Order: sequence, then C-alpha cells, then structure tokens
Amino acid sequence: MTTTGNGWLTDVVSGTLSLLFPHRCAGCDRIDICGFCRECKSLLDLANPDECCSRCGAPSSAPSAFTTSCPDCRRMSLRFKQAVSCLRYTGPLARGVVLWKYEGHRYLSNPLASLMIEWTAGTAPAWFETVQAVVPAPQHPDTLRRRGFSPAEELASRLASAFELPYLPRLLFKIRYTEPQARLSRDTRTANIQDSMMVFDNSLIQGKIALVIDDVMTTGATINECARALKASGADTVYCLTLARQAG
Ligand SMILES: [Zn+2]
Ligand SMILES: [Zn+2]
Repeated sequence: MTTTGNGWLTDVVSGTLSLLFPHRCAGCDRIDICGFCRECKSLLDLANPDECCSRCGAPSSAPSAFTTSCPDCRRMSLRFKQAVSCLRYTGPLARGVVLWKYEGHRYLSNPLASLMIEWTAGTAPAWFETVQAVVPAPQHPDTLRRRGFSPAEELASRLASAFELPYLPRLLFKIRYTEPQARLSRDTRTANIQDSMMVFDNSLIQGKIALVIDDVMTTGATINECARALKASGADTVYCLTLARQAG
C-alpha cells in the first residue's frame, strides 16, 4: 500500500470495493477474474487477415474468392485502404463488449485493449509499421455524456502507447448526432452517418498515414466516414483497425 498523498485512501477504497463487488470474468461471470478467464480466452475467435476480405476485413469461408474486395465492400465507396479486425464478435467477447459499452464496466478497457495489442503485435499486416497517427472514431458529445467514456479512445490510447505511435484524440469530431448504427439496417447505415464528421485541425493529419481505431465494425459505414473526413483533410492513406468484427 502506498502512503504518499491520498494514495492510501484510494487503495482502501478500491480494496473495499473489490471485496464488495469483486471483478468477474466478462465472458462467463466467474468471480475474481478481471477480463477473461482461461476457458473464455480459449473461446475467443481471433481473426486471420489471410482468411478475410483483403479490403474490408469481412470473414469468409472462401477467402480465395476475395482477391481485392468482397461483394459487401464492392457495394460501398470505400475511402480507407484496408480495414482489419482482431476478433470476431461472438461468444465471450460479445458478452464482454456489451458489459463494457452498455453496462458501465469501464474497467474492461484494459483487458479488451490488451487483446487488441496482443493481436496487433503478432498478426497485423505489414502496413502497421508505416502508421504515423492513431485516430479514434469519434462519438457525439451527448453519447459521451451518457456513457461516461469513449470506447474507441480507451482502445486507441492504449494501442498508441504500447506501440509508441502519435495519438490524436478528438482530431475527428461529429458535427451532428446520428442514430446508433447498431439500431439500423445495413442499407440505412451509410446514409445515417454520411457527412457527419469533420477534422479539428487539418495540419495535424496532412500527408500522414492514419490508423482509425473503433470497437466493433459491422458494415464499415462508421470507419468509412472517418476515412472520408480524414482524406478530405489531406490524410495520405487511411487504415482501420477494430477490436471486433460483427457479421453484417
Ligand atoms: Zn470466463
Ligand atoms: Zn470486403
């Protein structure tokens, strides 16, 4: 226990809280685990980019069919060069993300970001070495107030720190409120989010290779809008990395 400043008080409070409300596995509720227990970790479905669409990262049972793009991303005008996801949004991970994003379990930011960092260190495509700026996908101030934190920022700040990359929080911002994409059909997602983002300061991103970070990708409409705004502000190339990929 630290005895400097109010550190002892923080330790007493967090010790008492952990006795009253012990952490549980995000996947199966097992007690005294912060993050995922060994069994749930073994059930996480890690993505292999070689088995996904080489443009939008959609998982495929027949990857040889995706030489440059899949039917899904051919329907969209993609502004990013490539999007990849670390895990499929299923099983224990999906449960953990729901607890994290919608039920206030912010402490899951650390274990979820760790999954992303481990995957990136071992599996990310070669372009990751060229990234010059890490940019979290923005959320509207009303959403931030309601949730209390930004899931994309929680992941992006930890990833940027782990790989010692420049981190540009709040570079992108939303200029209007949009309906949560999760509530909308595939066909209305692009229209909902289109032209909803702007860059705060173009000089921070001009000529740079940017990496957009978000939590869950479904159709890619949100990260595509991030890429549009960054490219319109002079970014050279935009790549995207999300923690999880959900079937569209
Ligand atoms: Zn578990
Ligand atoms: Zn695709």
